[in-house]
Amino acid sequence: MAGKTTGKAEKTDRTDFDAIQKKWQQRWADAGAFRSAKDPAKEKFYVLEMFPYPSGSGLHMGHAFNYTIGDIYTRFKRMRGFNVLYPMGYDSFGLPAENAAIKAGTHPKEYTDAAIANFVRQQKELGLSYDWDRMVRTSDPDYYRWNQFIFLKLMEKGLVYRKAASVNWCPECNTVLANEQVHDGRCWRHEDTEVEAKDLEQWFIKTTDYADELLTHLDRLDWPKRIKLMQENWIGRSQGTLLHFNIVEEDGTDTGKTISTFTTRPDTVYGITYLVLAAEHPLVSELTKDTPLERETKDFVKKVKSMSTIERTAEGKPKNGMFLGRYFINPFTGDRCPLWVADYALYEYGTGAVMAVPAHDQRDFKFARKYKLPIKIVISPSDYELNPDKMARAFVDPGLMVNSADFNGMSNLDAMADITKFAEEKGWGKATVNYKLRDWLVSRQRYWGTPIPVIYCDACGIVPVPEKDLPVLLPPDVKFGEGNPLASSKSFVECKCPKCGKPARRETDTMDTFFDSSWYFLRYTDAKNDKQPFDPETAKYWMPIDLYIGGAEHACMHLIYARFFTKALRDLGFLSVDEPFSKLFNQGMLHKEGVVMSKSKGNVVLPEEISKTHGIDTARLFLVSIASPDKDLEWSDEGINGSLRFVNRMVAFVEGFKESGEKDLSALNASRFNRLISEYTDDIEHLRYNLAMIKLKEMFYSIEQGCSGQDLDTFIRLLSPVCPHLAEEFWEKLGNKPFASLQPWPAPDESLIDLAAEAAANTARSAMDDIRDILQLVKIGNPKSITLIVAHAWKYDFIKRLKSELDRTYDVGQLIQACVDKEHGKDISKIVPKLAKDRSKIPDIVNSQHEELSALEQDRQAFVDEFKAEVKIIKAEDSGNPKANNALPGKPAILVE
Ligand SMILES: [Zn+2]
Ligand SMILES: [Zn+2]
Repeated sequence: MAGKTTGKAEKTDRTDFDAIQKKWQQRWADAGAFRSAKDPAKEKFYVLEMFPYPSGSGLHMGHAFNYTIGDIYTRFKRMRGFNVLYPMGYDSFGLPAENAAIKAGTHPKEYTDAAIANFVRQQKELGLSYDWDRMVRTSDPDYYRWNQFIFLKLMEKGLVYRKAASVNWCPECNTVLANEQVHDGRCWRHEDTEVEAKDLEQWFIKTTDYADELLTHLDRLDWPKRIKLMQENWIGRSQGTLLHFNIVEEDGTDTGKTISTFTTRPDTVYGITYLVLAAEHPLVSELTKDTPLERETKDFVKKVKSMSTIERTAEGKPKNGMFLGRYFINPFTGDRCPLWVADYALYEYGTGAVMAVPAHDQRDFKFARKYKLPIKIVISPSDYELNPDKMARAFVDPGLMVNSADFNGMSNLDAMADITKFAEEKGWGKATVNYKLRDWLVSRQRYWGTPIPVIYCDACGIVPVPEKDLPVLLPPDVKFGEGNPLASSKSFVECKCPKCGKPARRETDTMDTFFDSSWYFLRYTDAKNDKQPFDPETAKYWMPIDLYIGGAEHACMHLIYARFFTKALRDLGFLSVDEPFSKLFNQGMLHKEGVVMSKSKGNVVLPEEISKTHGIDTARLFLVSIASPDKDLEWSDEGINGSLRFVNRMVAFVEGFKESGEKDLSALNASRFNRLISEYTDDIEHLRYNLAMIKLKEMFYSIEQGCSGQDLDTFIRLLSPVCPHLAEEFWEKLGNKPFASLQPWPAPDESLIDLAAEAAANTARSAMDDIRDILQLVKIGNPKSITLIVAHAWKYDFIKRLKSELDRTYDVGQLIQACVDKEHGKDISKIVPKLAKDRSKIPDIVNSQHEELSALEQDRQAFVDEFKAEVKIIKAEDSGNPKANNALPGKPAILVE
């Protein structure tokens, strides 16, 4: 560290950050400082960052930002007396490793092991306080055997099944994908690759069994609103009516077949004029088999299946269909209507059949116009009449029922429930709930994943691998590049049936790696257990996760799967919680030169480089100073240099402390320091790190002019979560025993806080500064009189209100709305935008008008002495001068003569 420097050192390039960091990282490790153990006597707190995939390119500063958010919180909670669990591990199976290994001519295991080693080294260098003893790697057999175990448990419970279905295939990944991994018709890994439909037999997990709970339990979670909304939409619950129709020949003869549709608009059933089936619907080929339409239908179906969902359903695209030569009877009207197949009907939604009401649905309307199908009006606007031949578009607004038998004249909204009831009485249908959520397709035709633990026997069918034979290990002897790699290993595929002992064949698909990441947080609670995935009692102590930090991109993948797993494992008796993640925090993205920092963009800043030049603590301080951690932030060299200057100032102060001697804080500084401790604590607790860093700096400034050893101890402890290495070094310098990181969090001495005095001092100081500026500006050397006009009384309450609103929103419109009152609406809507833009104009502490007036009155003599003039102090209400309106609490208007 630096020798004695005075005051504001610009440079202490003698501070060997690298040595300090290495020293404390080693000492933390040697002492097992951050190891955690279940302790029922203490309240637990579980912090977790989303499971990283150990990519070969390692970490850049953007990742460091993410981990810093969690580490600060963890260190804070630890010092607050919680028993904290803060683990780290690696989601190490997956396609990128397999592809990279193929490209590099190595084995995915070698590639992955090297990538993990690099990740661990980099994370340790960031000073993150993980309990490294709990590290898990999903590609290790002692982890993935429990994937297989859980798979078999889910299978026993009927939550796993194998089914032939039309599935999503990514030609780039060479494997099938889950619905959640298809984004706008494209692969989640390959934004440019359209997903194809393929008919394959695959393994599914019945996530839909929990659709209702997945939806309703969202209410219990402290998650960002938009993430909850995304899940809500993905689960897509809709209440509606299931209707059944009999299929008939052209002459009306019953075929004995029925078809069901789901509708959310039972009010329109009298207006059905045709019905469309999805190309994948089994009735399509059944109904046309051995008819003249068979060939044409097959061609049409083939064409539709080659289209992406997006292409089929996009609003602007023309819809195509063909008549199937059969009809159905609408039981409500007795009408015979034609049955069609169309590209816009999707098999995975509802029943795969859509009742068409062209008069009241725009898509049906366009289709009916194109194919000259009848349009029948059953809902009418109240002020004009619709003409089906002249309509330019469907009528979709509420209205009155017409052409609907006994329901005529009712409001269509009221008729919905009545028509459903009527259908139930007649046996034509029933009220039902439909979900958009589909079962999770979990099998993959790739190597680097968990082998699915089943065996196919000609005599016994699908046979689960007995638990005692787990894990089913990945065979090393496979060929990459031609089809499913596992199928190329003879020793893997050929096996004996566990039931009958005859030669059998092993499943060659592996699990979607999202399976691995759906329960890793449970393994952390008991990472070394070799008897079961985790001990339920231990998991009960640690779960749920109190703070989960990660990106918004996982809203409809990982976060849905992990919630499903938690519920399924609960019902299997392994867990006692309903939800895994009580609070979710989405961090912002780090940008550089306006672009998200990433290796592919070539704009990465490496932590190891900044660590040497500025110190990793300086980088941590800088990253959480720039913006609220849930907002995007911009890296700047100037900014990190500014943080370095602050760090150097702290170093210099601590270095010189012993020599300059202890001093008592002035009453004013003691008030500031203790007030700021509470505010800083509150800001960190609520993850308002950027605001906390302002307070951290102010706390330092309030002790910098001289303080007691105890005050400095307090400050170092407060600094510790943000700059852990420096805090340890300072702590040791002052003769304390390690570790600062494990000290209790300091409490403020409330008796030293004097808000009125602080506010008065601030007001007087800023008024003095303002007067000096004015005198210089108007070039008056010897003013005769100075008048300080204290703001209108109502403004004090208004500013207090505004300050608390600013904790919630920066939106000017919302702020005005929250602060406005009848009397001062005009003024408030003028002031708010100015103050929202420049928050330095808002005082830290707001007194009342009366307190401000009397405080200035007490300081009057100081003004007189300084400016040698008559000094008047008055209320805005008593001033006739229009400038009085400019006064704000803590900022009197000033008149100089
Ligand atoms: Zn892909
Ligand atoms: Zn058998």
